[in-house]
Amino acid sequence: MRRKVAAGNWKMNGLSASISELETLKTVKADCDVIICPPATLIATMVKTAGDSGIVIGGQNCHSKLGGAHTGDISAEMLADIGARAVILGHSERRADHNETSSDVHAKVSPAWAAGLQAIICIGETEAERDAGTTLSVIGEQLAASTPNDANAKNTIIAYEPIWAIGTGRTPTLAEIVKVHDYLRAHLVDRFEDGDHFRILYGGSVKPSNAAEIFALSNVDGGLVGGASLKAADFGEIIKAAS
Ligand code: PEP
Repeated sequence: MRRKVAAGNWKMNGLSASISELETLKTVKADCDVIICPPATLIATMVKTAGDSGIVIGGQNCHSKLGGAHTGDISAEMLADIGARAVILGHSERRADHNETSSDVHAKVSPAWAAGLQAIICIGETEAERDAGTTLSVIGEQLAASTPNDANAKNTIIAYEPIWAIGTGRTPTLAEIVKVHDYLRAHLVDRFEDGDHFRILYGGSVKPSNAAEIFALSNVDGGLVGGASLKAADFGEIIKAAS
């Protein structure tokens, strides 16, 4: 009942030559939603390249304000103006490198929606929190505090990304992923009328060799993929796993 999502986060990677990866991805037959979030410098060109392929191009962050004296920042409206249709918010690298709190993330979500962007809200625990056995309470708090009350399954996607699994080659066990996703589903169902329809993505060292088994799990509706989204050969396999 929920259409799966293969979302790629290119982070601070990619120059004009990387557009060829998108050209290749356009040839992959996808039966899932495909979203690619390149660096802001490539969004406009990638929107043109994506054309009518159905591949959505998104940003990796936006400011909570529409405009003003915020040197180096980019607003949701600016992203939408160059053709973006989604934006990642609250990625752990933003939370760590830029001290973004869940309330900062919350403040960006409504402006993103107002600009017509689908918000991909990221949550996840640190390794210390995992070791302390506090994963569920940490991500429950992050979800509650990062997500406005008027979120719905169309304007919002949730991405569970254990921080210790990002870019490390390590992943939780399949049973651990199910436990967290079931917990998040229960929270969403409890809080939102259409909580059963939200897509909950898993992120953290997803690659062609593990994508299918992860995406087959209960309440896992696809993946948010970093490193393995940079090369069409790998991301194409992940799209197939989600299809
Ligand atoms: C990410 O940064 O969102 C991510 C999941 O990275 P990777 O797939 O490289 O672990």
